[in-house]
Amino acid sequence: KADVYASDFTNQRFAEGPIRLTSNENPYGPSPMARRAMADAITQSNRYPWDVTTKLLEKLGTLYGLTSEHVLLGAGSSEILGLSTLLAALNKGNAITAAPTFSIWAPVAEKMGLTVTKVPLLEEKMNDLSAMVSQLNENTRLFYICNPNNPSGTILPTAAVRDAAEEASKKSLVLIDEAYLDYTNEPSLVNMVSTNKNIIIAKTFSKIYGLAGARIGYAIAHPDTINKLAALQPWANAGVSAVSLAAALASLDDKSFVASSKEKNTEARMYTQKELESLGIKVIPSHTNFIYYSLANYKGNWQEALRAKNILSAGTYEQQGQWTRTTVGTLKEMQQFISAVKAIV
Ligand code: PLP
Repeated sequence: KADVYASDFTNQRFAEGPIRLTSNENPYGPSPMARRAMADAITQSNRYPWDVTTKLLEKLGTLYGLTSEHVLLGAGSSEILGLSTLLAALNKGNAITAAPTFSIWAPVAEKMGLTVTKVPLLEEKMNDLSAMVSQLNENTRLFYICNPNNPSGTILPTAAVRDAAEEASKKSLVLIDEAYLDYTNEPSLVNMVSTNKNIIIAKTFSKIYGLAGARIGYAIAHPDTINKLAALQPWANAGVSAVSLAAALASLDDKSFVASSKEKNTEARMYTQKELESLGIKVIPSHTNFIYYSLANYKGNWQEALRAKNILSAGTYEQQGQWTRTTVGTLKEMQQFISAVKAIV
């Protein structure tokens, strides 16, 4: 009988549909330990999961050398981005961000009365921290840095981000989004931990932990700031299901799953980058589970061309769509992607 909790089983089940290289999900997850924990949690889903919530808050606090009071859970880190935006927008003013970057929070900011200032990425597609800092003024309410950056896959050393964040925190709430940090192999990039009351760090279980569909993420911040964010949730820490909490707790213990996801991602990413480059496509070296590359030499609709080959990939960015992003799937998926690219170009 097939082990429904084994990694390969789910991969096989989805093998029939299109290859999904759009949303930077982990193609190997949830981890086997998370799957078992989720199955067990189903039977306890008639009760509010307060004990598991407390355990997870404590475990996460300890992970960063802090306490459970420095952590707030959300339905994905996107909830944390939204809450942080609402908190910042309690006073009207402006928000500063890179472009392109991950910006689902920007429409919320605008609706709540913040003007969003977009600072173009550097030539090498990194956040231009000094240009962003130079935009700060007395009316800045939110300063957002995505590190590693989505969609460009570039990173900045934690020390540089910390310096910019400290500077910005004198005027504004600072939001650091580390959704893809676990994929990097660079020693200069580590989990940013700060107890500055104006700095919030957003984390997610959606990426390397393979739990995008479970919807669980969290904020790390000073307890006073956590309380302010929690006050904007209808029921603090209660928006995550018992099943998702159990998945997150188990995932933190499944170290071999995280390590193998990272290793397989690096292998598939290096393969894809090399193949794209050999086709004369300019690729931005990626530190994540997605690749940003130039479409300067392609005049058609890239997303549709891939779609016709049964591959879902992201849309275009910058300079009239001269760049695009493709998620790194399994090596086999990336081999199929490269065959499709060869046929298209
Ligand atoms: N931050 C970044 C940079 C992302 O790319 C994403 C999703 O793709 C998110 C946050 C939100 O993810 P989730 O709400 O699943 O944690």
